[in-house]
Amino acid sequence: MRKKHSREAGYIAERMNPHVPGKKVVIYRAAEQGLDDKDGKYAVVCDAHRTVDNVGNIPHARCLMKAPETFCLECRALS
Ligand SMILES: [Zn+2]
Repeated sequence: MRKKHSREAGYIAERMNPHVPGKKVVIYRAAEQGLDDKDGKYAVVCDAHRTVDNVGNIPHARCLMKAPETFCLECRALS
């Protein structure tokens, strides 16, 4: 069953992972998703590898969402 990220707490946006077919990269408001937010209030999550990166603003988060290899080492290995 395909996971519906859009119903999750703190959901902001998602995009297909360019390196892992069928998986997504998702932006959340970190605190609402239960993630640490001391390094930035937004969390970008590589769904395929459960890698999380925190950033302070949405434009930066969207850049990372489009290019998960910039923060996820496992995606980098695939790219
Ligand atoms: Zn990844």
